[in-house]
Amino acid sequence: MLATLRQAVEIESPSDDKAALDQCGAYLAREFARRGAKVSMHSQPTAGDHLKAEFPGRAGAKPLLLLGHFDTVWPLGTLEKMPFRVENGRAYGPGVLDMKAGIVMMMYAMRALRSANEANHRPVTVLLDTDEEIGSTTGRPLVEAEARNCEAVLVLEPAQGIAGALKTARKGVGDYTLHVRGRAAHAGVDFEKGRSAIVELSRQILEVTKFTDVARGLTVNPGVIHGGTRTNVIAADAWCEVDVRIARAADAQELEQKFRSLRVFDPDCTLEVTGGVNRPPMERTEGTVRLFRTAQEQAKTLGLSLDEAATGGGSDGNFTSALGVPTLDGLGGVGEGAHAVHESILLEQLPRRTAMLACLIESL
Ligand SMILES: [Zn+2]
Repeated sequence: MLATLRQAVEIESPSDDKAALDQCGAYLAREFARRGAKVSMHSQPTAGDHLKAEFPGRAGAKPLLLLGHFDTVWPLGTLEKMPFRVENGRAYGPGVLDMKAGIVMMMYAMRALRSANEANHRPVTVLLDTDEEIGSTTGRPLVEAEARNCEAVLVLEPAQGIAGALKTARKGVGDYTLHVRGRAAHAGVDFEKGRSAIVELSRQILEVTKFTDVARGLTVNPGVIHGGTRTNVIAADAWCEVDVRIARAADAQELEQKFRSLRVFDPDCTLEVTGGVNRPPMERTEGTVRLFRTAQEQAKTLGLSLDEAATGGGSDGNFTSALGVPTLDGLGGVGEGAHAVHESILLEQLPRRTAMLACLIESL
């Protein structure tokens, strides 16, 4: 597993580099095919080609979907500063936790199952997309189409925290941009003629932060602001990028309504609001809880204890869950530092969690 993982990490695959992604996809396709899957690539004009690998199972049974992505947030060349390495019981490297370990776990769980009982489990479809880290624009339709035919979705994103809890709820995610246009003027000569886009934007920012309702799981974060040109010029242009998170699907519409109802304080400025919620929340449904309980029982037979957790981060599991398909997330690597320089997995958990995944697939 370690050798396969090393190889997968050493073929860097940033979300925005098609050539690199396709190279990584070709490697993964070969590895899945070697383990008995029928592999097909869904070719994309600009995004990396998405990968589907199908393993046969019990005749007539609805398949299970193993879901993941092989794009990473790390640009090409990251390996030079952050090489794949094993140290103190951990493997380090770009994308090792999020989520190349999860992909390798899929391969080895299927290998174990197929060597033990050829076709006693449900058919298994593996779907790996290439733009998850940038919103799954091209992956989403494929993920949704595949999930609709499946009994349940198991997402091999990293587990939560070093204790490795599974994820039974994820917040929905959205982005809004507030763009204010004012009127430029010399700050000394023509002050009264100017209309500061920065001042107007500041007032709008204070408005949207009032939408936050922590108890409800709804947060609004103005994360990036731009605006103005020089200190002696009244700013004609300013905009702000806002991240929103919601715990309940029903809150998306209300939030949308609030953003669209924003009005300028200064009638000589204009305000343009774009964006919206792009990942619905993965709510803790009955189906998800049932899957979690099954995973917990299987873990117990292996001598492992397993907890569940909710997270503010989104994944492709949000889409499948929103369709009503029971979805369990966080079944991948256990470690820490996703998207950070200390990204790593705990090696002792790699075979254990893979065994648990195999048992879970077998029991569904
Ligand atoms: Zn991920």
